[in-house]
Formats: sequence, C-alpha cells, structure tokens
Amino acid sequence: MESNSKKTANKNRLKILNKINEKKKDIINFCSNIIRIPSENPPGVTTEISGFLKDYLVDEGLDVGVYEPKKGIVNLVASFGEDEGPNLVFNAHMDTFPRGEENWPAFDGNVLNGKIIGRGASDMKGGLTASLFAFSVIHELFPELPGRLTLTLVSDEETGGKWGTEWITNNVQNSVGDSCIIGESTAPQIIACGEKGVCWLKITTFGEPGHGAHGAEENAIEKMSKLIPVFLKLREVKGTLTNYEEFDELLNMQIKDMEIEYGGKVDRILRNVTVNLGTIKGGTKINIVSSSCNLELDTRLPFGVSSEVFITNLKSEIEKTGVDDIDIKPLQAYNGSYTSSREKIVQKMIENVKIVTRKEPVLYPIRLGATDARIYRESGVPTVVYGPKAYNMAAKNEYITVNDLITTTKVHSILAYDFFDW
Ligand SMILES: [Zn+2]
Repeated sequence: MESNSKKTANKNRLKILNKINEKKKDIINFCSNIIRIPSENPPGVTTEISGFLKDYLVDEGLDVGVYEPKKGIVNLVASFGEDEGPNLVFNAHMDTFPRGEENWPAFDGNVLNGKIIGRGASDMKGGLTASLFAFSVIHELFPELPGRLTLTLVSDEETGGKWGTEWITNNVQNSVGDSCIIGESTAPQIIACGEKGVCWLKITTFGEPGHGAHGAEENAIEKMSKLIPVFLKLREVKGTLTNYEEFDELLNMQIKDMEIEYGGKVDRILRNVTVNLGTIKGGTKINIVSSSCNLELDTRLPFGVSSEVFITNLKSEIEKTGVDDIDIKPLQAYNGSYTSSREKIVQKMIENVKIVTRKEPVLYPIRLGATDARIYRESGVPTVVYGPKAYNMAAKNEYITVNDLITTTKVHSILAYDFFDW
C-alpha cells in the first residue's frame, strides 16, 4: 500500500504538472520574448534582459536582488522559503553567443512548426525559462517550503563566469546552496552530472626580422610549425580513473548512447584530450622574416587530467623540440568536474525525469561543453545539468523544440518540489 506521504507527493506533483500545462502558452511566449532581447557576449551587456526578468519576477511577488559588479554585467538573485531546510539553487545565464555573420532571424523569437528559433534559444534562454517557471510555480503553489528555493540569473558565462556565477557565489547570500540545477542543454532523456575541464593557451614564437632572401632560419612561423605536431599529439592524453566507482560504467553507457548519433569518434572525444588550433597569426610581409607568430589553442581535459600537470607536461614536450624563446600564456584553465550519481539531486532528477517522460534517462558523466556547474562543484555543491536539446547551437537557426521546453520545465518544477522533505 502507498504511504500517505507518497500519496500526497503524487497528488502535489500532479497539481504542479497541471499548472505547467495551463501555463504552456505563457512559457512559450516568455522564451520567445527573451530571445527578442539580444544579450550577445561579446559585449556581454545584460542591462535590458535583466531588467525584463527582474520586472517579471517582481510582478510574481518575488524579491529580487540586483548585482552589477561591472558596468552592464548584471546578475539577479531571487530566493524564498526558510533557512531550516536545504537550499536548492537554479542557475541560468542570460548572455549568449553573438548572432554571427550569416543572415537569419536571430532576434525575432519566431515559433514555427514546434520550434522556438533564435540566438540563445538552446544556450540557454530555453533552460532559463524552464528554471524560472519552476521557481515561480513552486512559489505560487507551495510558498510554505520546508527549505529554500533560489533562482540565480547570471551574466558573463560565455566569457568564464568571473563577474557572473563566480562573483555571486562569493558575494551574495543564498546563491551557493546545497544542491544546484543548471538548465543548459542536454535532452529530455539525458542528465549530465559532470563535464570536461578547459585549457586555453596563447602561444607565441619569436624570430629575427630580416630580408627573406637572406636565409631566414630564425623565423617565428617556422618555429610555430615545429610546435604544431606537439599540440596535435596531446590528443593521445587520456583521462585517468577517478575515485568514483560508478564513473567508468556510466561513461561506457554514455559512449554507447552517443555513438548512435555521432559514430565511433565519441570514445576518443570523451576519454581523451581534444585539441582545436583556434587561430594563428604571424608575419607582416611575404619577403620579410616573421618576427612573431601566435596561436590560440583550445584543449578540453577529461576528468582526472589536471590543467596544471597538463601545462607542465606540454612545456617539457615543447622543450624537446629544441624550439626556444616561446611565450605560453594560459587564457583559461580549469579542471573537469563531477557530481556523484549517488547524490540526492542526481537520484531525484532521475526519478522525476522518469515520471515526466515515462522513459529511463541516461546519465552522462561528461558533458562536452563547459558550464558554470564547475563553479558550484568546486564549492562542494552537487550539481546536475538538465535542459532542452540544442539544435544548431552557436550557429545559424539555433532552436529548441516546444516539446522539450515544456518537458524540461515540468521536470525542473516537480524536482523543485520533490527535493524537499515535506
Ligand atoms: Zn551556456
């Protein structure tokens, strides 16, 4: 027989799901409205979109703190409940990739054939919408929460988070919490509980300027060309086993799941360092020996490869080439992060995805793109990423589906109820 508390929980979940169904049109309109307010990064200015979001939350009867640590870089923190129980935090970023050069309706907020189209739809105005509605629906239906629910809407995510999530978690009460949900893209069937680390380096070689006809051995571009094979060889570096027993098993399941869509290369992408030679610039004129050449290198580190060790090893490999007089500048460097699947927030997420989708979710221990989850995990806060599936992310005609938006809003909402001990 079902216990009384279980019966009540089921009844209340149903109440929440019905509420989301009632609000379906509002949710879709809201998402398309915030796409209409550009928040491209660069420049990363979020004054207008944060003003819109703040007004919306205030109209819903919520207290909202506004924090602007740098001009135009605005963060919002709203919170309700009591401090006796746990604090569950939703985190979403307001800034997006730039619209790009191509011709497409990036800021029209079009809803066509079940798709919501525009820059930021998938990264991450859809996920933001899901979390915001979850937050406001719980506030509306269950204001007497046995704990605290916090919504953090941040800026500066696309450029590292220093003035966004990093800043609020260091400076604003309630914004760290006991567990965190981030609505960055996954898919209705996919929950991410870890991600790769990032190591961006700017490497510069130097030469002796002179006339190209006179030998030209001390040439900066030539030196860089000797280093490129070293960079590409970094792809052989594998992630090491972790302290988490379940990690490998989950990774194997993720690889199987992703291979359906991406083919056999998935194994290497997930287990190894990935390398992208992002930009290269050098030389001034065809017949002048180039005096400097710089290359921007984007590497992503599997869980277990520390960025410090990685950079030290890279320097020693570079030394072996005999190329000297090199400058290596880290632009961004941080390690992969992981939340154990045994944490309450992960278990509750699995349970509630099952209830909404009626299917078994797949847990990804490695999400490929970086999110602010690492900042929460570094503070010891168990964090899951769960949001609508991204289509054409950072490209032309970025979109999410209406179905994904509603499904993920439902999951965020009932999880925000179910996380607490009523
Ligand atoms: Zn994002």
